[in-house]
Amino acid sequence: MATALKYPHMKTITSSGSYVGRFAPSPSGHLHFGSLVTALGSFLQAKSQAGQWLLRIEDIDPPREVTGASDSIMRCLEAHHLFWDDEVVYQSNRYDLYNEKIQYLTEQGLTYHCRCTRAQLTSLKFGQSCACVNQNLSVENSAIRFRHHNIHQHFYDELLGQVDFPEHEIPTQFALKRKDTLFAYQLAVVVDDIQQGITEVARGADLLDATLFQLALYQAFNRPAPKFLHFPVVVTEPGKKLSKQNHACEVNTNDVCTNLINALGFLGLSLTKELKRESAQNILNWAICEWDLNKIPAKTECIDNRIGQADSI
Ligand code: GLU
Repeated sequence: MATALKYPHMKTITSSGSYVGRFAPSPSGHLHFGSLVTALGSFLQAKSQAGQWLLRIEDIDPPREVTGASDSIMRCLEAHHLFWDDEVVYQSNRYDLYNEKIQYLTEQGLTYHCRCTRAQLTSLKFGQSCACVNQNLSVENSAIRFRHHNIHQHFYDELLGQVDFPEHEIPTQFALKRKDTLFAYQLAVVVDDIQQGITEVARGADLLDATLFQLALYQAFNRPAPKFLHFPVVVTEPGKKLSKQNHACEVNTNDVCTNLINALGFLGLSLTKELKRESAQNILNWAICEWDLNKIPAKTECIDNRIGQADSI
């Protein structure tokens, strides 16, 4: 093992004992470089505070699921030494809980049945509700939507600071259960983050606007919201997110150290040549010590500029 790398092997981290973070991939594809960055960022954010890092598989959308993706995501995380704490939670095992929570919101007068199409909903102006709100429609062929009175327009992000949304960018309606009877992401994610005691949600900036809906749900459940931290999104070219949908290639586990170094470079750590001679575990130990939110480039960056970091040190 190389000895030139100067870092305290495991710095003594004083734990407040209370940080609980998570990585919550949907198995709609295998792990690509963008999801590795999010996984690594959330892992380092938790481990640098001696916190727990949980893994939740968000498998509530079977039509979008890719066979074998849950397992391949977990194997890929393990290959990169990103070991999670506790049992993996699968959202597909939690439908009773989601129904119970919808029932609770219904009893609070906070749901309604809606048959609008996506196009009808997007034509609504900020603060405007669709006609279904007052129609008392039956549940058949209807989505169950959240009836909110005032949606937040801003929130505080641990990396980005105050995030403000102009009115025209805020969709006014969101579903708890879709017309096709599948549970909606907004509901499941909040129910689980509450239930798992998540203290900070650290994820990709593509979910910034979802935070507004989620804050409305925390309020409806009368629970304090966690902190939110959104990492820059890896893009293939400006404005085009690297995603499972645009066929981003699966992270290759033959060279996990290079992948880790590239992801750390993306997250703003100052890489040194010596890192290249280290094991994955040592690279992670070093990164836990070096982790600094202030160094993370807050803006979305182009993968082509950043992915080759391991080659350039
Ligand atoms: N399941 C979501 C995804 O894979 C992430 C959810 C979240 O982190 O809140 O994009």
